[in-house]
Amino acid sequence: MASPRGAAAEIASPRGAAELTSPRGAATVAARLLRWFDANRRDLPWRRGCDPWAIWVSEVMLQQTRVEAVREPFVRFLRQFPTPTAFAAASDDELLTAWRGLGYYRRARLLRDGARQVVAQHGGRVPGAVGELAELPGIGAYTLGAVASIAFGHAEVAIDGNVERVVARHRGLREVTSTAAARRTIRATVGGWLDAARAGDFNQAVMELGAMVCTPTSPNCAACPVAADCVARALGLTAQLPARKPKRASIEVAARAVLVVGSRGVLGHRVAAGEPNVGQIELPGAGMLCSCDPGDLAAVVFRRFGARLSVGSVVASVRHAITHHRIELHAHAATGKSLGTLGWFAVDQATPWTTPSRKVFLAALGADGVMHA
Ligand code: SF4
Repeated sequence: MASPRGAAAEIASPRGAAELTSPRGAATVAARLLRWFDANRRDLPWRRGCDPWAIWVSEVMLQQTRVEAVREPFVRFLRQFPTPTAFAAASDDELLTAWRGLGYYRRARLLRDGARQVVAQHGGRVPGAVGELAELPGIGAYTLGAVASIAFGHAEVAIDGNVERVVARHRGLREVTSTAAARRTIRATVGGWLDAARAGDFNQAVMELGAMVCTPTSPNCAACPVAADCVARALGLTAQLPARKPKRASIEVAARAVLVVGSRGVLGHRVAAGEPNVGQIELPGAGMLCSCDPGDLAAVVFRRFGARLSVGSVVASVRHAITHHRIELHAHAATGKSLGTLGWFAVDQATPWTTPSRKVFLAALGADGVMHA
């Protein structure tokens, strides 16, 4: 059925959209979701308390990162920075090491900006008013809804990719984010379902359903609490809804770097602005997004860092992905003649080495820092 211009593309509903969004229909959706969530919620570290700072930290970490990858960094981070005041005082290196394993370091910098504003304007306590939360750096629509509802009980919706998928399938919507009208439809639907008395649990229930049951490629409709009135299930369209964006073609990169081990650590450089992993310490090479021939590596290192090195054979090859770049990083053993702008850095948890560099250390260096060439 053609959609009216400006409206979200909607497929015919077996029970009728009006019925599903009527107050009674919406209430039954919310009740079923909450009943299912009460029985099936995962025990996650950030669900064990209601400290607004911990909830804010978890919601920032969970953006673009899998739940399993967040568990350990979340606990470690809060042990080091239990309050906004503690994190507001963190140095760049402390921030980078605390965020290791999570990627997308810009999130951490914005979180620190937010913590600093909490200290400067709210006495170090995360404000509970929606308007004040919205003013904090790094708090976008999703984080605002999540923190406001989970930490403070405000009747706000939190819409992430999981929620969009559940709503798109349940309501039979092709598009979820490609137009403003589609986004409005998703928001209005979730807002209509919302149980204001348990807003935080409701938001987590929809997200949990998307993560555990209504998954992108193999939804388990038999276990779904809202299957009875799901349009996609009734019409056999769970594989088609929502329409997927065409995948960006991946770019293969054969990156190279030198591994120079000395008594003071490993030779590295601090990544400059404009490159991935800005501010972290990286093994010297052409850069993570640049392919490099083995024969060019010494010249590249001289051109970039003024260092004269004697470059040997590959001692470790590791794989890493940055957005759509699929990188194979080959680390060559090397010895220094003159070091230019390069410096020695310890191989320890306190030094903010990039993740690909750490992968090289794991593959090439023993626990005692001796290279296994
Ligand atoms: S019935 Fe299936 S497709 Fe519909 S919301 Fe539930 S899991 Fe998703």
